[in-house]
Amino acid sequence: RRNALTATAIAASEDAVETARRHLVQPWPFAGSVGAEARALIGEGDGIYITDGDGKRLIDGPAGMWCVNVGHRRKELAEVMYDQAMALSYNTPWYTMNAPSAELAERIAGHAPGDLSHVFFTTGGSSAVETALRFMQFYNNVRGRPEKKLILSRGGAYHGSTYLSASLNGRPRDRDWMDGADELIVKLSSPNPFRRPAGMSVGDFADFLVDEFAETVARIGAGRIGAFVGEPVQASGGVVIAPDGYLRRIREICRQNDILYVSDEVVTAFGRLGHVFASDDVFGIEPDMITFAKGVTSGYFPLGGVVISARLMEELRRSNHPDAMFGHGLTYTSHPVGCAVALRNLDLLEGGVLEHARQVAPYFQAKLKTLEELPLVGEVRGAGLMACVECVADRESNDPLLIDKDVGKRIDAHCHELGLLVRPLINMCVMSPPLVISTEQIDDMVAILREGISRTMEDLRREGVW
Ligand code: PMP
Repeated sequence: RRNALTATAIAASEDAVETARRHLVQPWPFAGSVGAEARALIGEGDGIYITDGDGKRLIDGPAGMWCVNVGHRRKELAEVMYDQAMALSYNTPWYTMNAPSAELAERIAGHAPGDLSHVFFTTGGSSAVETALRFMQFYNNVRGRPEKKLILSRGGAYHGSTYLSASLNGRPRDRDWMDGADELIVKLSSPNPFRRPAGMSVGDFADFLVDEFAETVARIGAGRIGAFVGEPVQASGGVVIAPDGYLRRIREICRQNDILYVSDEVVTAFGRLGHVFASDDVFGIEPDMITFAKGVTSGYFPLGGVVISARLMEELRRSNHPDAMFGHGLTYTSHPVGCAVALRNLDLLEGGVLEHARQVAPYFQAKLKTLEELPLVGEVRGAGLMACVECVADRESNDPLLIDKDVGKRIDAHCHELGLLVRPLINMCVMSPPLVISTEQIDDMVAILREGISRTMEDLRREGVW
């Protein structure tokens, strides 16, 4: 089937890659090729599939960037965007409001844990994290404790690409050549059990992480720490699932020390772990704020937000500074088209996609786990419909294969040939397909990944580097 869109997309493809080389700056480029990179052109999407510039159909293994949760080419989402743009494409959020944003805030609050009841909408995840942190600063200023501003973050974290959100990032590559607001950030260990100190049990590792957290708070003083920001599952850090109970224990320390707990659910919310929010439903914690983005519109429109606890709002209203202004807003805060598509997307999630995601998740995880039979694979780990295949030089040392061997990219290149897009992360491959994936499609995906890894092993052996 070739509709007009397909034909146009394919006709445009050769030109587009060359034009991009001349004019487009792409995200996360390397200095040596910045502004001149050739990346695979994607012409169109349909369900769990995307089609590249050569007309080759691929399974969208990472669902875009963990975001196309209800799948590509959802007519109902396209229509609602058209209808809303025809009714009202934009209104200024400074002194007017629109109905879709109010309704969406109410629906999101209905899913949020505890007393999280108020939503500030942003343009994506970075601006959501930025908003949560600026809100924490405002909250502590208004409450007369301007010194309570430091932010706790962890190794392996990814929270965004704006200045403050990026300062929290804990993957070395993100920070090696980039500056940040380091004076505001305190870094803790990554909670990755696969990389725990040799000889330590997972239980002892949990104690170690919790002790480190508590000791850091005691050393610096709770009076200087405003917030902890953490992903329930570190996504871009390699789908890191912290030891059981660790998040609940950290949450408790935050509560005891009046440190705001910001759960960054930019990846995990809106179905990735089978629920609208994972903080409570999967991990049993009630944060003070939750940041979200991506899946809220299944990637059809750039939208994100922060859900904020009613208690914090009430404390601000009762403070001694009723005239203090939260000097923060974005032109596209509460965008009517974004909120309208998010409402329809939520209908789809509630109407069966979440249920489906919960049903297929065990199959998805079990099937991927079989890849541990391959000697290049050190560990397959995951939760819900997100997983990571981590490659190692050998199982004794768990030594990550060196970056110059670019194992993730090699696997991606083979898989692309075979009909699957994977997300390479140095020595890892991340899989987070659209949540509508069927068990047969999971079989296809894993079969291709297995073949891609096998071919990579042959290459590495042939080159004598493994
Ligand atoms: N937080 C997390 C956990 C993320 O994974 C990301 C993006 N991958 C962000 C924040 C930033 O979101 P955005 O790219 O929409 O700004």
